[in-house]
Amino acid sequence: MTLRSTVDFLLHDWLQVSTLSQRERFADHSRDTFDAVLDTCERIARDKFAPFNRTVDIEEPQFDGEQVVLPQATYDAREAYAASGMLSAAQDYDIGGMQLPYTVESAANAFFACASVSIGAGMLTVGNANLLMAHGTEKQKEVFALREFAGDWAGTMCLSEPQAGSSLSDIATRAMPDGDAFEADPLGPRYRLKGNKMWISTGDHELTENIVHLVLAKIPGPDGKTIPGVKGISLFVVPKKLVDAQGAMTGERNDVALAGLNHKCGWRGTVNTLLNFGEGKYPVRGAGLDGKGAGAIGYLVGKPGEGLRCMFHMMNEARIGVGMAATMLGLAGYYASLDYAKTRPQGRPMTSAGKDAASPQARIIEHADVKRMLLAQKSYGEGALALELYCARLVDEQHTGDAESANQARLLLEVLTPIAKSWPSEWCLEANSLAIQIHGGYGYTRDYPVEQYWRDNRLNMIHEGTHGIQALDLLGRKVLMEEGKGLWLLADRINVTVQKALDADNAHENVARTEHAHALAQALQRVGRATKMAWSSGVPNEALANAVPYMQAFGHTVLAWMWLEVALASEGEGAANAGRRAAAQFFFHYELPKIGAWLNVVESRDMTCAQLSEDAF
Ligand SMILES: Cc1cc2nc3c(=O)[nH]c(=O)nc-3n(C[C@H](O)[C@H](O)[C@H](O)COP(=O)(O)OP(=O)(O)OC[C@H]3O[C@@H](n4cnc5c(N)ncnc54)[C@H](O)[C@@H]3O)c2cc1C
Repeated sequence: MTLRSTVDFLLHDWLQVSTLSQRERFADHSRDTFDAVLDTCERIARDKFAPFNRTVDIEEPQFDGEQVVLPQATYDAREAYAASGMLSAAQDYDIGGMQLPYTVESAANAFFACASVSIGAGMLTVGNANLLMAHGTEKQKEVFALREFAGDWAGTMCLSEPQAGSSLSDIATRAMPDGDAFEADPLGPRYRLKGNKMWISTGDHELTENIVHLVLAKIPGPDGKTIPGVKGISLFVVPKKLVDAQGAMTGERNDVALAGLNHKCGWRGTVNTLLNFGEGKYPVRGAGLDGKGAGAIGYLVGKPGEGLRCMFHMMNEARIGVGMAATMLGLAGYYASLDYAKTRPQGRPMTSAGKDAASPQARIIEHADVKRMLLAQKSYGEGALALELYCARLVDEQHTGDAESANQARLLLEVLTPIAKSWPSEWCLEANSLAIQIHGGYGYTRDYPVEQYWRDNRLNMIHEGTHGIQALDLLGRKVLMEEGKGLWLLADRINVTVQKALDADNAHENVARTEHAHALAQALQRVGRATKMAWSSGVPNEALANAVPYMQAFGHTVLAWMWLEVALASEGEGAANAGRRAAAQFFFHYELPKIGAWLNVVESRDMTCAQLSEDAF
């Protein structure tokens, strides 16, 4: 099955996405317009991204002392992507958008991630501009966001610092009011920023004429002290090159200096930077912080102290984007190893009379263990794609549904976002490992693409909140919030699917479907019980000691739900339906039973890891 046929099936046969055109916002759309967008993206991904995936890995970004050097292919891919209109696809018509549903936008962007995840298709730029549309002033939207949607400028998110990654409350970047009239600037209250931002993706390059940094920093009070914790964090828009109130470039370079590039294990097509803000390398306008123009000029977005809340607007989108990227890398490895397995002859089939050495060799796809590895990849990759598109559909519901269903979509997204980010990051990475395994020794060389997929995918458990941090968020916050409403709602949805499976009466699939429905109902009960038992002592350290095993079990239960949904939509004849039903069966037989071991330690609040003293290691 091709990626396109899987996407078409999930969007139309399963999610019925064309029904969105009954809503006012999407009234001009239909299956035809959705198909046209997918066709365009599939074509650009095939022509401008896929052929250069290895090029950008080998020719990783270099800093020549003046500027960042990237391969020509990156410029060509970016230009084609921007020209397609995808940067503003979901925006209103009156600012040049297509009012495309987010579900279709996500599906269309999946083709780029599959073709070359690290060339990048503008996820940060769109997320940055969307944040400004939600929290910026009218001027900030007009001057910065619209130029990003138009493709003229690119955007970044600058949260992490060398000493503050997971713990953003410890950021040290400071913002001081810029002169007495700092509040009168048309672009927003003007500050001078000083600090170091680490790991900033697309932090410097010449792909666009300007770069719009969104930067977290703390504003000290009159006593020079900052408010501890996340409440002290504010958000600033800091352009690399300064602009006037109409958005025209003033010719002044802002005091944002590239201190160096990070040389990564994978995802090498995207430049990753250490940026120094306000160190005085590019003195700019007036006295600044040192009387000589030091200090990067930044404009406050939202209110002081609300920086992280605003930033979360970008981070939630980014987390679904990361999950989709991990998924696509998983599927890219699946397709490569499937092709390989169909052509590689090795070994002979075992018959009841033993092996016949004179017979022709089997292709490795004929061996049961290779089929196991292929089916595992299919169940991880296509299951994850179903989950990402389901979450994207919830985003559309949140934005365009009636009040009640929009609120339900919001709550479900709260609970599902850690899974949407983390589950594909872990299991589609495992899929890439299996893709290498199917290639044998060849998979461990650079002659085949699968080792690069694994290296690229290894990032996803680290950025946008590590695996451990996502798990703490899920068990420590999301399943408890609003008195557990999100979790209850999810359980209701899963139970609807269970009932649907039990009620359906298609004879030839009935046995498997009933068995899967019961297994899913039991898994859901077990997750509910584990949630209660984890918190039964009321001691957070005990409850959260096994947050990652909890998230793994929660994620596997959600994926089993996805597979039962997909299997129910795949009851017809044909190889594609048979393949999806087999992947569902694989997931229920080989994967879902794993949750028992994960939840045992959660339920017993096992402290083996948490209480071990350092000197025992
Ligand atoms: C290639 C790449 C691109 C990136 N792009 C960006 C970007 O564009 N913008 C940006 O702002 N940042 C970016 N990041 C930074 C990324 O978000 C951080 O690396 C990540 O948040 C982790 O921070 P850290 O590296 O400091 O690790 P640490 O926070 O030091 O974590 C190290 C380990 O300790 C664990 N840990 C930490 N705290 C806890 C805790 N309380 N409980 C349990 N375990 C804990 C973590 O889970 C992890 O396993 C990028 C990183 C990389 C590698």
